[in-house]
Formats: sequence, C-alpha cells, structure tokens
Amino acid sequence: MNAEIIAVGSEMLTPDRVDTNSLYLTGELNKLGVEVVSKSIVGDDRDRLAEAVARALRSSPVLILSGGLGPTEDDVTREAVAQALDRKLVFDAAIGVALERRFAQLKRKMAENNRRQAFVIEGADVLPNDRGTAPGQWLEESGSVVMLLPGPPYELRAMFERQCRPRLARIVPPLAIRTCEMRATGITESELDQLIAPVYKKYDNPATTILASDGTIQIHLRARCSTVAEADRLLAELAGPIQLLLGDRMYSANGDPLEVVVGELLVKAHATLAVAESCTGGMLGERITSAAGSSRYFLGGFVTYQNEMKVELLGVSPETLERFGPVSAECAAAMAMGAARRTGAAYGVSITGAAGPDPVAAPGGQLLPVGTVYIGIAGPEGVRTAHRQFPGDRKRIRIFSTTQALDLLRRLMLGKP
Ligand code: ATP
Repeated sequence: MNAEIIAVGSEMLTPDRVDTNSLYLTGELNKLGVEVVSKSIVGDDRDRLAEAVARALRSSPVLILSGGLGPTEDDVTREAVAQALDRKLVFDAAIGVALERRFAQLKRKMAENNRRQAFVIEGADVLPNDRGTAPGQWLEESGSVVMLLPGPPYELRAMFERQCRPRLARIVPPLAIRTCEMRATGITESELDQLIAPVYKKYDNPATTILASDGTIQIHLRARCSTVAEADRLLAELAGPIQLLLGDRMYSANGDPLEVVVGELLVKAHATLAVAESCTGGMLGERITSAAGSSRYFLGGFVTYQNEMKVELLGVSPETLERFGPVSAECAAAMAMGAARRTGAAYGVSITGAAGPDPVAAPGGQLLPVGTVYIGIAGPEGVRTAHRQFPGDRKRIRIFSTTQALDLLRRLMLGKP
C-alpha cells in the first residue's frame, strides 16, 4: 500500500524551517509496510492545498497532512480537504465544549477564532489532542484514508502513535519491509554498477539503490514481502551474488562505516593504532575516534603540518625531507614508522599530500599536481606506502585520503594488501 504526505505551512517553505514530521511519519508507515511514494510541502493557500489533496488521492490510498489545524485564518487544512472532497464543514459541539474547558482550566479566555478548531469535515472521526488545542481528523473516502494531524511534532507523534497507527494496522495488508546496506571502496560508482547490474536488474523486489560519497559506495537493497522471513530470504538471495562480485572491495555487509570495520579488526587482533597526518590535519584521527570504543585500540595522533614538526615529533630525518620532499613515499613511510615507534602502537598510519589549491614543488624541481597523496602503513610486517592521485577540491581530496588510509589498513590486516 502506498502513501503520500503533505506538510502544510508557509514557514516550512522558508530556509529556516525543516519538515521533520514527514521523516517521522515515513519511518512509522514503513514499519507498517506502507511505502511513502511522494511527499510535498504546501504553503497556507487553500486552493493550492485542495489541488494537492485531490492530486494525491488520485494516486495513493493513504494521505497524511500535517499542520494548518490552528485557530487562525491562515490555518487552511480543514477547509482545503473539505473542498477537495466536496464535503461540508460542520460544527462539533463536543469539541467546542472541550476547547472552552481547556481554556477555563488554563484560566484564559478563549478567543472567538478558536471556534474554528471545532469544525469537522462531514463524516470524519475526531482524533482528540491531549497535548494541544487542535484536534486531528480521520476520514475515509472511496477506499482511501485521509488523516489531518497537528503540526507541532510533540502533538503529531502522540496522535499518530495512539490513534492512527492502530487504525491503519487494521486496514493495511500485511507487508514486511526489510533493508540491507553494503559498502564498498576502491571502485568507482559506474564500475560497480557495471559489475553488479546484471545481478540486481533481475529483481524488481528487492529494489536496489546505489549511492556514492566520500570515496565510499553504498548499495541499498529493500525487500517488500508479506512476511519478514520471506523478505530476509530475498535480501540474502540478492546480496550473496553481489558480495561475491565485489570481493574484498566490500568492507561492510551491514552499513557499518569503514572506521568501525577497521576498529573491529584491530580489537580482534589485539592491536593498537597511531596516526601521523599532514594534509588531513587531524581528519583521520577524528574519523577513527568517531567509532564508539575506539579507546581500546587508538593511542593517538600527530598533526605535523610543517617539516620541522615531522622531524621533531615523528623523527623523520631532515635528509629524507630534503632529498624526497614532504609529499613522497619516503616521507609517508618515515611518518608512519615514527607514529608507531613514538607511541608503541602496533600500526602507524600516515597521510601526506598536496590537497590544493596549489601544486607542491618536489626537490627535483617538478611540480606535484593537486591531489597527489602518499599513505604509509607501518606494522608488524614492515612498512608499505601507496601513491594516489585524487580528483576534486581540497575537501574531497582530504576525505578521500582518510578513506584510502583506512582501507589500506583494513586490507593489510586481512592479508589482502
Ligand atoms: P497548532 O494550532 O497547535 O499550532 P497547527 O496544526 O496549526 O497546530 P502549525 O501552526 O501548522 O500547526 O505548526 C505549528 C508549529 O509546529 C510550527 O511553527 C512548527 O514549529 C511545527 N511544525 C509544523 N509543521 C511541521 C513539520 N512538518 N515538521 C516539523 N515541525 C512542524
């Protein structure tokens, strides 16, 4: 079963407000097996909203509107839905009394326009709101369901949870939605798609989505079946061949980020890690420590931007810097070894490169292009270095560098350098 969500309110069309209600509602609908196929934001304009409601109901059997149920003239949701369904608005005396009682309890006089909130679309069920003054409404129209919910998230959530979810659960056919997220690196988005498309194209269900960011590619699978077991079986049936094709380029089968995967490998090996960073200025350490429990294996890091700091803090020899320059395999190796030696860590990882905007001059006089990066990994097996040429601007080059450094360590620890 499909659903649409319309967030009502001109303030939601400004750069200052975000429609978070639809995110909450989408999560709740998915748990019931209802897919959200479209969502939109409409300002406080009755005709435009009525049009949007009529359009949504032509294609989806569930429509949820949030907001615009307040007492003022610009709260137009009731009127717009009544207009779209060609129904009358009728005064509900019980709501009127409840509103008066609420104001009396708060020792405040009820303004005349609060009476607007007591109008109900003909044939709708009233959804009481014990957290605010705007009652919600539930109505059914030729096999479709329309819900009018208040805008404040605190009120909307309680109303959906207590009153809409149980009602929906009774009418929604059983459907389980299960997802799986795999992550890979060391391959471009188009190469990956070319590789796995022949497998996933055979399936409409699960649906496959591929997203690329920061040198990592995410493969999302989404299965919809009548039972959880069937959805899980379909996910496994498709994920298996994809994993085989990706091989060790896939680092996570459950959506874990690379730093978490590397952390788990270090814990398993009872090994510790230290880093030495030049052009990434601490980003690698930041990523590593964003994983909960990283204190079990991460000893610390050196941010050595200037040559003097590389010499002083990491013990890189001035001859290495003079002969090969700071952006070189030799310097990356010395930095990685220095980080491990000076902290006593089992592994030392280093990054040094030209993040731009200007190329870096090497000792021989040639210019190293922006994006030239050297990564060093010192470990029990000795020291290795890798040279990468990343595309993009300073920000992307720095993020890509940390991804590559983590991935090289992962591969080394798996014995697949
Ligand atoms: P009330 O009468 O209680 O204000 P209402 O239904 O008229 O209810 P709105 O006036 O549309 O609600 O919105 C009230 C407030 O709720 C907004 O100022 C905003 O802070 C929040 N809100 C409204 N819609 C959303 C939304 N889609 N996502 C997140 N917050 C929202």
